[in-house]
Amino acid sequence: MHGRVNFLLASSNRGKLAEFEALARRDLADSRFTFSLAPDFAKLPAFEEAAPTFAENAAGKAIHYSRFCDGAVIADDSGLVVPALKGAPGVRSARYAGPNATDAEKIAKLLAEMRGKRGAERAAHFVCVLALAESGRCLAVVSDRADGMILEAPRGNDGFGYDPVFYQPEINKTFAELSRAEKNRASHRGKAFRRLLRAAHDLFDRS
Ligand code: IMP
Repeated sequence: MHGRVNFLLASSNRGKLAEFEALARRDLADSRFTFSLAPDFAKLPAFEEAAPTFAENAAGKAIHYSRFCDGAVIADDSGLVVPALKGAPGVRSARYAGPNATDAEKIAKLLAEMRGKRGAERAAHFVCVLALAESGRCLAVVSDRADGMILEAPRGNDGFGYDPVFYQPEINKTFAELSRAEKNRASHRGKAFRRLLRAAHDLFDRS
């Protein structure tokens, strides 16, 4: 085993940060990797997430912030995809109801767009792409997804974003009805994070 490697997370979304912190506590406990927030992240020049795919945004973000930080930087891009809405909210999930909209406003817009859609038309999936970069070079890009459907009304008080209307029939719960540990087991972000760890083991164990 070589020395320890610390990953810096480039994000300011509080919901995502809380989930990443729980993932790091659980999945990194016995590994050579540690995890912390990118120092002074809010003061760094912002990266504009204007690309049409999650992968380009995540890789672009990781490359951009790794130029200002010492060490390996992780960035993510994630969102909700509804095939019956031609993939919306998609890469615009955060800004779906305008730049300063609350989660409740985003959910209200989604439910309005879904009105009249029944059965398989209510299928949706969350996507998370994670990218790892160092000194302006991208080292890895991984992704995963979580499948479910959009309810007609919100349920549950935990999580963030679209969680209260994202329902998984197998567990008969929305993501807002799961504990953080349960959500991390099932979610696009949890699954992508574990993929990234496997990629990082390959990268750093050979270095
Ligand atoms: P971004 O990755 O910062 O561009 O934001 C992604 C947006 O997608 C978030 O602001 C949420 O609205 C939504 N989103 C991503 N992941 C989740 C999740 O796990 N639960 C609920 N909403 C999510």
